[in-house]
Amino acid sequence: MWNYSFVFPSLMMMFTLLAFYFVRKRLPIHMNRTFLGILALQLWVIVFDLVSSRADEEYANYTSAWLYALNMVFFVLYIARVFWFYRFTLDIIDTDRRSLWARLSWLPFIASEAVCLSSFATGAMFSIQDGMYQRGPLYNLLYVCSLFYCGLSLVLLARHARNLKGHVLAEGIAYNVILLAGNVARFLFPQYLVMNTFCMIAILVIYLGFMNPDLYITDRGPAFNMRGFRTLLAELYRRKKYRILGFALQNYNHERSILGGDQMDEGITQINQYLSDAFPSLLPFYLRGGRFALLGKDSAPWEAVQREIHERFQQPWHTSNATLYLSVVFASVNSKANLPSADRIINNLVLAMENAKQSSSLWDDRDATNIQEVDQQVDILRSLEQALEQNRVEVFLQPVVDSRTRHIAAAEALARIRDAGGRIIPPGLFIPIAEKSGYINQLGEQVFEKTCAFIRDNDLAAMGLGWINVNLSPIQCMQRDLSQRFSAILERYGVKPEKIHLEITEQSMVDYSMLKRQIVSLQGSGFQFVLDDYGSGYSNLTRVKHYPFINIKLDMEVVWDFFNDRDSLLPTIIDGFRSMNLSITAEGIETPEMADVLTEIGSDYLQGFLFSKPLPLDEFVSKYGKDARA
Ligand code: C2E
Ligand code: MG
Ligand code: MG
Repeated sequence: MWNYSFVFPSLMMMFTLLAFYFVRKRLPIHMNRTFLGILALQLWVIVFDLVSSRADEEYANYTSAWLYALNMVFFVLYIARVFWFYRFTLDIIDTDRRSLWARLSWLPFIASEAVCLSSFATGAMFSIQDGMYQRGPLYNLLYVCSLFYCGLSLVLLARHARNLKGHVLAEGIAYNVILLAGNVARFLFPQYLVMNTFCMIAILVIYLGFMNPDLYITDRGPAFNMRGFRTLLAELYRRKKYRILGFALQNYNHERSILGGDQMDEGITQINQYLSDAFPSLLPFYLRGGRFALLGKDSAPWEAVQREIHERFQQPWHTSNATLYLSVVFASVNSKANLPSADRIINNLVLAMENAKQSSSLWDDRDATNIQEVDQQVDILRSLEQALEQNRVEVFLQPVVDSRTRHIAAAEALARIRDAGGRIIPPGLFIPIAEKSGYINQLGEQVFEKTCAFIRDNDLAAMGLGWINVNLSPIQCMQRDLSQRFSAILERYGVKPEKIHLEITEQSMVDYSMLKRQIVSLQGSGFQFVLDDYGSGYSNLTRVKHYPFINIKLDMEVVWDFFNDRDSLLPTIIDGFRSMNLSITAEGIETPEMADVLTEIGSDYLQGFLFSKPLPLDEFVSKYGKDARA
């Protein structure tokens, strides 16, 4: 009577999927529980489909009570499975389950189950007559029920389409359409038991689109990732009392560049393993950038947890090739803060961690409750991370002009990144954040590399450019292999080191020995050095003498001060440098008068808005490419 050829492959697919699903860590979210319900129902529907169909075929061997019982269980589970798929749709559109209509939508399910159960007495859906299985007059209720819930799912998806991500909408529609097709196939070819296979495909769509646990765990040990964190928080923040303890590795980016990515990743894997072993009642998350979080009930012994982690970090972490000494700072957020969205919670946590990391300036004396400022800082950090990841840091060029001829002589490369809306974020905002977060190394390297590409692709001499100045942050100088890295980039682009002058700001000349060693090493590779923003720090002439600078750039403020109050200090300083054979560049030249006066008192080069603002590379080329005059 029945053909079982579709049932066994479905069962095998089911076991494969169960194995994949259950060996991985899963998030305790509603969607997961609903999916678990679908899996359990699917498994038992297949089993009872087999058993009851077999019993119906060999009815002579079974009593009527057995036949009733087996068929009844099958139909009850079958209806429940349809209903659970519908509940999954409710999960993905994130409706309030307690709303009136969400509750009302249970009614057709309950009514269908009631009809099914009553078949024992009424024979409505099926009956056993003369010991044989027969369809009842309301048998087609099975189809009506399926059509109703799949149809309702599609209507709901359409109504929420605007708030759903494209792939969520597409996958939601896909599994409902597959279920509808399954019903048609079952109606047309009832003897093949094909519905299970269609349900299995629908389950696969859900698994691949939403429920694959790999989507929510990091590839570094047994912890959930940022997507997992956001998904869980989105469900949690309105309903439960929770607390999150975050901690961040100090100097993560710096350590990473010294140790190498592989060693650091191994270390992170170990930390995640440790968190998952040591605190089984808390959920571990790895939020990239050396940031970790543990989430649990507000009533958990959080102080003890923090102490325990702190103590563990007093010990080193052993990876295959290195021993890592890492230190951490902590931050915490709990439900009492009443933050209005998952994103806000994450922003606050990340910011609190960054805050804790900085012993100086950046976020220290700011009021962390000033939400707008908090958001702005985190937005900049995100834009920076994105620009770096996608290699989208832009380089602008500002001409440096020869003071006597007023022809362009060189240019300064200045970094730019953009916010989510495509607007430029000024370096005054993102450079300090890049320095504090350690991203300055990557940033500096991108600017350096793009400058090299520009030199390779353009004829500098034809534009009147003798060289290009690139800013070097003191933090970059802490990279031991900086000189090798820069030399490798030069080689890759076939650029000579004389074509690049490195600017170091005076304020950074604090850690004397390290900086000097680095400068000497880079000088050995052929680079030349410029002291930037002179007058903004505390250097005296003798100290400057110990460094191999070839040019001094006067800080804009110093130049402007001179025009407010013309004392003899600036001319004296300029004379001093010239007697040391150093050339002078004056920055911030905005008027012809400033240009003339600074030329007169001995400035060799001038830079400022009078000549040009920093320009995107293509604009710079079209402005200076043909005509070399500034
Ligand atoms: P800086 O190296 O002293 O660069 C000169 C800054 O002065 C630039 O600001 C430029 O736009 C501005 N400027 C030039 N002429 C005038 C003028 O006539 N009037 C006024 N009001 N401003 C003028 P920008 O591009 O905003 O850069 C600010 C600072 O950010 C730079 O100061 C530099 O310290 C830093 N920076 C920029 N790009 C990089 C980079 O790639 N790496 C590093 N480490 N720092 C960078
Ligand atoms: Mg500069
Ligand atoms: Mg400067």
